[in-house]
Amino acid sequence: MSRELRSRLVQFKILNRVYWTPSRLHRVGLATDDACWKCQQGSGTLLHLLWGCSKVQDYWTHIHKVVEKVAGQRVPFMNSLYVLGDPSALSHLPTPLAHWIQTAIMLGRKLLVKEKVNLQKLNLFIWT
Ligand SMILES: [Zn+2]
Repeated sequence: MSRELRSRLVQFKILNRVYWTPSRLHRVGLATDDACWKCQQGSGTLLHLLWGCSKVQDYWTHIHKVVEKVAGQRVPFMNSLYVLGDPSALSHLPTPLAHWIQTAIMLGRKLLVKEKVNLQKLNLFIWT
């Protein structure tokens, strides 16, 4: 299976909630523990894999700093905005700026999911 096809398959599985996280594998008895594959510290839930994992937090922190710098505004650093794409935290900003921030974050989210299969090789500078 090509890398691109594998990435698309992971995206599809996450969107349709059929992605087998460490937590889910453990819950059904297919894994001895539910530890995150990347950090080996947290419980490998989908939210942990996309937001809470220390490896992923470095990535989001980098994107957050660039977004705030380019926007010239404080942007809430919250999983509802970065992972779920909920724009309600941006309602106080002018619409074009809010749309730009949403687009930048969406691209970061897309890259994260695309690279999910090999996060240790995730290049933060691809996004910038
Ligand atoms: Zn982790």
